[in-house]
Amino acid sequence: KINFSAGPSTLPLEILKQAQEQLCDYQGKGYSIMEISHRTKVFEEVHFGAQEKAKRLYGLNEDYEVLFLQGGASLQFAMIPMNLALNGICEYANTGIWTNKAIKEAQILGIKVKIVASSQENNFNHIPDVEFSDNADYAYICSNNTIYGTQYQNYPKTKAPLIVDASSDFFSKKVDFSNIAFFYGGVQKNAGISGLSCIFIRKDMLERSQNKKIPSMLSYAIHAQNNSLFNTPPTFAIYMFNLEMDWLLNQGGLDKVYENNFKKANILYNCIDSSEGFYQGHAKKKDRSLMNVSFNIPINTDLESVFIDEAQKEGMIGLKGHRILGGIRASIYNALNLDQVEILCEFMKKFQEKYA
Ligand code: PLP
Repeated sequence: KINFSAGPSTLPLEILKQAQEQLCDYQGKGYSIMEISHRTKVFEEVHFGAQEKAKRLYGLNEDYEVLFLQGGASLQFAMIPMNLALNGICEYANTGIWTNKAIKEAQILGIKVKIVASSQENNFNHIPDVEFSDNADYAYICSNNTIYGTQYQNYPKTKAPLIVDASSDFFSKKVDFSNIAFFYGGVQKNAGISGLSCIFIRKDMLERSQNKKIPSMLSYAIHAQNNSLFNTPPTFAIYMFNLEMDWLLNQGGLDKVYENNFKKANILYNCIDSSEGFYQGHAKKKDRSLMNVSFNIPINTDLESVFIDEAQKEGMIGLKGHRILGGIRASIYNALNLDQVEILCEFMKKFQEKYA
């Protein structure tokens, strides 16, 4: 099957095979990686190796700490304001459901929130112009909007610490970290399996966390002080993430990964743009996502479910749009290759010939 699901999503087959080979007997040791303590050298090698490789891929130095947490990206919506808000205003750019949810969690905590830009009135079909105040406690964006298929081409320049939810374009391209204080995501779309969130936090932000009364499991400072081994972490998810880091490095790093992602997205958008309106993309062209391509069949939206069924019969799964937006969505994360995207395009052309 070719899996276009938005997440959890397809993994590189090599990784699945490697995990399968090692499942009962990790490196000839006679036990599974799932079966040993997180306090052993064997697991620590995986854990610290994964942290080091994640940083290497983004070209980060000692200024940043890598944390492996649970609770999905969704728990970060609450942990971020809990740990990083000061007594001022936390600013958000609202570009979809995931920023809406992040705003809501901050409000539940009684944090002062300001929405500095929003594309809600246009059903989130673009990234609005965003300008954050210099003195905001932090400036929050979601780099890629999984449902609507929009993506920041460049992050806003900010004096305030920039926080980025990169869940759906994690490890898909190089990123300029010069004003990024906090960069995070659930890894289940582009870099592993569900159950693990990976957080890059600039060390000066840990001071904010340290100075607050926060339950230990929700404190970035506590997790950092314990090398992200404060309690039992999701060891198997970290093991899979480590394999994924190796795979990304073997691809030639994030520049090479980006090159490939760019080509894949271009193939798909060309297919939409050359369909003479049979297919219509949701996102404005300037903000199109390289990861999630959301589109409709405007002449007759009933054809969308026919499209999804017929594609499934040809081995292509996960193409149903998110329930909020409807339509069709092809998620083309790191692990999908060019040939697989071309197969989808061929199908789209034939489908159009049949039904236009
Ligand atoms: N942020 C973005 C951009 C997402 O796409 C998602 C889930 O799809 C989330 C956050 C929430 O992630 P989780 O389900 O890991 O909590």
